[in-house]
Amino acid sequence: MVSTRKNKSIFIDKEAIASLSLAQEGILSPVTGLMNSKDAKKVDASNMYNGKSFPFSFLLAPNGKRNKEVLESLQKGDEVSLVENHKIVGHIEVEEIFEIDPIKRVEKIYGTSDATHPGVASTLARLGKYAISGKYEIEFEDVKASKQKIAEAIAKVEAKHITGIVTAARPINRGHERLIRLALEKTDLVVIFLSKPYSEENVPYGIRYEAVDYLVKNFLPSDRVIVVPFENTYLFAGTNELLLDAIAIQNFGCDRMVIGSNHAGLGMFFESHEIKSIFDSFVGINMSVDISSMFVYCNACKTLVTQKSCPHGMHHHINYNSESLLDLLKNGILPPAILMRKEISSIYLSRMFPN
Ligand SMILES: [Zn+2]
Repeated sequence: MVSTRKNKSIFIDKEAIASLSLAQEGILSPVTGLMNSKDAKKVDASNMYNGKSFPFSFLLAPNGKRNKEVLESLQKGDEVSLVENHKIVGHIEVEEIFEIDPIKRVEKIYGTSDATHPGVASTLARLGKYAISGKYEIEFEDVKASKQKIAEAIAKVEAKHITGIVTAARPINRGHERLIRLALEKTDLVVIFLSKPYSEENVPYGIRYEAVDYLVKNFLPSDRVIVVPFENTYLFAGTNELLLDAIAIQNFGCDRMVIGSNHAGLGMFFESHEIKSIFDSFVGINMSVDISSMFVYCNACKTLVTQKSCPHGMHHHINYNSESLLDLLKNGILPPAILMRKEISSIYLSRMFPN
């Protein structure tokens, strides 16, 4: 190989940049940087880091033949450039290069290594044999911009209590809207963290943002509701999504989080006549977590109800099921106005069918 005084390069993708940036900006605290082999082992064995819940080790182990060659050649103290799409996006000072087991890693993240699981497949494709640890700096404006937007909104309304809601708004419907309004009753500011996935999807982030923004600007007190992108990287794709969402939201400055009771990861159960959820097992989450009953439209009550607040049976109830709403939109059909505001449906339809 040709010797050069230039830094060696490691090639990473946008998803890695966003993940590194989240840690750098304190959004994954207690984790603030890449783990060495010793810390990684400890976290994977205990699901704890510095005395707080954290579900798996935070690693950079990029795939690729060139990366493997570079990683094998690195020594402690070397300066390495982080490159994405021919552009240097950061630097790392090597502390340690160590081997990882990609299968064990995906099992830790997704609870399975079954390659038919889309998350497993995509993470396995991105994982290499070696991880690199060390102090790093990464350039990525989005997370900083979100922090700033939230800080400005807090200052503007002098918010003392701030609620975070993570949603993909795929599509945003009246059930979401009711959740947001309820949150506004109890707190000064609502931050909608709009998931920004790193895989291909049929309703792009831009359309979803436009629809939520329209709702906020036209039907909600817009100084008390803001929308920020949520960097929904592989970190949040597995079985520990709720813990990581909570960690991120808390670190973004929220003191309350709303989750729909139908969330798959909640694991609700009864113990000594109390409803418990997975949140009772987390250490370090100090926010209050509001598990909200899901709204349905009752065609006898003619309004939004919850199962608890309406005497009519389920045969009267129409669910705000995002998938079926999305199916209607994909077929070019305007969903019923009781489920989605027609102006909002029109935004999705006109962008999904530009002709
Ligand atoms: Zn009813």
